[in-house]
Amino acid sequence: MLAGGTNFLTTMSAEAKSVSVTGVRIGETNKKTRLVLELSERVNFNVFTLANPYRVVIDFDELDWKIGQGGDKGRGYISRYRYGLFKPGTSRLVLDIDRPVKVSKSFFIAANHKYPDRFVLDLEKTNHQTFVKNTRKPVAVTRSSSSASPVAAFDPSFSGKAKRTKKVIVIDAGHGGVDPGAPGAAGKPEKKITLEVARAIRHALVSTGRYKVVMTRDRDLFIPLRKRVDIARAHDADLFLSVHADSLDNKKVRGATVYTLSETASDKEAAKLAAKENKADIIAGIDLGTETDDVSGILIDLVQRETMNYSVRFADVLVGQLKGKVLLRTNSHRFAGFRVLKAPDVPSVLLEMGYLSNYQDAKSLGTRQTQRKLAKTVQEAIDRYFEKAYAGQLGIDG
Ligand SMILES: [Zn+2]
Repeated sequence: MLAGGTNFLTTMSAEAKSVSVTGVRIGETNKKTRLVLELSERVNFNVFTLANPYRVVIDFDELDWKIGQGGDKGRGYISRYRYGLFKPGTSRLVLDIDRPVKVSKSFFIAANHKYPDRFVLDLEKTNHQTFVKNTRKPVAVTRSSSSASPVAAFDPSFSGKAKRTKKVIVIDAGHGGVDPGAPGAAGKPEKKITLEVARAIRHALVSTGRYKVVMTRDRDLFIPLRKRVDIARAHDADLFLSVHADSLDNKKVRGATVYTLSETASDKEAAKLAAKENKADIIAGIDLGTETDDVSGILIDLVQRETMNYSVRFADVLVGQLKGKVLLRTNSHRFAGFRVLKAPDVPSVLLEMGYLSNYQDAKSLGTRQTQRKLAKTVQEAIDRYFEKAYAGQLGIDG
C-alpha cells in the first residue's frame, strides 16, 4: 500500500505544476481555418508540416489535456486532430489536413477578462509544390536505424542467452500518447486498454520469479514503432509481445487473434490490419520519408527466418493456451507485415485481444477481471513455450 501511496503523491505533484489545455475551437472562413487552444498559461511551441499524408504538427512543452480523449473530428481544412504526449517533456497536436495548406500565422494571445491564454494557428490554402517546399522534417525526432545495423546471430539453441538466470520478455503496450489507437465502443480507447493489460502481464510474469520484464512504455506516451523494436533488441530479449485491440466496420465481430510477421499476409483482413497498425508513426506526426510502409520490399534474411520460426511456435502455443479461456476468432493465428514485429533476432508476436468496435469485447477488455485472465493465460503460454524450447520440442531444425 505504501508504494501505491507514493505513486499517487508523485502523480499529484507532477500534475500540480503542469500547464493544462482547457478548450479547443476550430473556425472557418472561405479563406482560412483557425484553430484556437485555450491554455492555463503560455508555453513554448514549434510548428511544422508533413506530407504523405498532409499534416500540420505542433509540439508544445508538456501539457495536461483536459479536453477529452482525442482523435476528434475537425472542421474546415482540418479533417481530424489528435493530441497527447509525444515524448517526456513534449506534447503534440497533430492535424490531418484535407489539402495542401500553409501555416500563415501561429502565435499566443494573452489572457483577458473573458479568456485564458490562447494559442492561435491559421491555415490557408496553397498548392502541393509550395506545401512540399515548406515541409521539413521534425528536428525533435531522432531516427534510429535498426534495420541497417549489424545483426548478431540468433542462437536457435538458446544457449547464447542460457547464462541469464531469467528470460527477458518485452511487453509492448500498443499505441500511446498522441496515438490513441482504436476508439473503444465502451469508452476506453485502445491505448489505455493495452497499457492496463501490459501491466497485468508484467505482474503475472514477474510473480513467477522466472522472468525479467521490460515494458516499451509504462505511461500514456507515444513510442515510434521502430523504437519498440529497438528496445527489444537492446535488451537482447528472448521474446517480444505486442498487445493490441482491433476494430472493424462490422461491429458484430468478436474474439482474439494472434499475429506473426510475414512478407505476404494470410488474408485480406490481416493485411488491412497491419497497414492500419503500421500507420501509428504517421498518426503521431512522424515523417517516414522513404521508409516503406510494409515489409514487402524488405529482405528477410536467414537470421530473421530462423527468428520467425520461433515466433510462429510461440504464436501456436499462445493460441493453444487461449483456447477455451477467451473467445478466439476462426483462423486464430494469422500473419502480415507488421513493422513492430520486425526485430530480426527477437521472436515477436502481436496479440489482438478482441474488437473495440464490438461493445461486449470493448466492455470486457476494459475490466480488471478480463485483463487478469488474459495476463495469466499469456504467462502460462510463455512458460510453456520455454519449457518446449528447452525440451527441444519446438520442432525447428538446427
Ligand atoms: Zn493497435
